[in-house]
Amino acid sequence: MTSADPVALAETLIRCPSVTPDEAGALAFCEKVLAEAGFATERVTFSTPGTPDVENLYARCGTGAPYLLFAGHTDVVPPGDAGRWRHDPFSGTIEDGVLYGRGACDMKGGVAAMLAAAIRFVMANPGFGGSIGFLLTGDEEGPAVNGTVKLLEWAKARGERFDHCILGEPTNPKHLGDMIKIGRRGSLTGHLTVHGRQGHVAYPHLADNPVHGMVRLISALLAEPLDAGTAHFAPSNLEMTTFDVGNPASNVIPAEARATFNIRFNDTWLPATLAAEIERRLAAAAGNAVRYEVAFAPTNATAFVTEPGDFVTLVQDAVEAHTGRRPALSTTGGTSDARFIKDHCPVIEYGLVGETMHQVDECARVSDIEALTAIYETVLGRYFMPS
Ligand SMILES: [Zn+2]
Repeated sequence: MTSADPVALAETLIRCPSVTPDEAGALAFCEKVLAEAGFATERVTFSTPGTPDVENLYARCGTGAPYLLFAGHTDVVPPGDAGRWRHDPFSGTIEDGVLYGRGACDMKGGVAAMLAAAIRFVMANPGFGGSIGFLLTGDEEGPAVNGTVKLLEWAKARGERFDHCILGEPTNPKHLGDMIKIGRRGSLTGHLTVHGRQGHVAYPHLADNPVHGMVRLISALLAEPLDAGTAHFAPSNLEMTTFDVGNPASNVIPAEARATFNIRFNDTWLPATLAAEIERRLAAAAGNAVRYEVAFAPTNATAFVTEPGDFVTLVQDAVEAHTGRRPALSTTGGTSDARFIKDHCPVIEYGLVGETMHQVDECARVSDIEALTAIYETVLGRYFMPS
């Protein structure tokens, strides 16, 4: 096997059953491949009480500027019932030009493409002058506390300074040239409790029904949009995710009602300003009639955007050169490790087609893995040797 063959790399990575937080040989394999290509590598393990220890990998080739960083994760979500898969989820089987396995698109296929592109580039251009780095974590699909966020701090403390970063998450909805992510929405979860007074449904004047109060508060939260959207973001969205009373009796007014909501918010807000706005709306709706509490879960997911400019255009051009499609610039989807990287350098996300991520029969087209490698290689060429 040649380390410049991204499909062989992806197959080997899929065969490591690296379900978070198990490393299962995936990072060790990346380290070996990078070290053989001349990268200086370091394995770093982080611990936090109450969460599993997590292994991470940092690698760098070159000492000069500019410094382009590839970021990603080798951990995967569990496969679920392996019997429901067309092929064993950790077999890395190719059938009709499609590579099957857990992590095929999220994101071992992307990691393989980055590795192969960087190795091809440094082999062909040994004196390229800048620096190429890898920041690979085993803790993206889990609690995300012993991975990218700590590895970035660790690198910063050692004096590492990155100029730009590409995170290889699967960003394309259907086709390889569909979409680059230039930012992400933030996420804020709130827990709402309405207090009432238990009683007999036939004697409501002796009770206080918290369901009625909760309906009033939820209606107020849903009544008005949070904002109208911004230049690069859709309007912020509040979803009620649960509403619980836990009352098995049809003749009892319950004592308490609970509800939870999650807001995916744009760059209009910070978690604190958004929480304050929610508190304001709840207080206005409750008046003196509803006794309630709201508590917000701690969040490290703020909204951010990497403003379009030379770097974003360079990546867009490279994608178009290989796919014939001009990728859209998007901030949709869930959170990712980009929310940590953005504190260190401008970051964009571009990887494989994500249609099957976290699903049974997760897969990636072999031709897409090869094309993504070529795209990354073009990015490296234009980044370090602009014509
Ligand atoms: Zn992922």
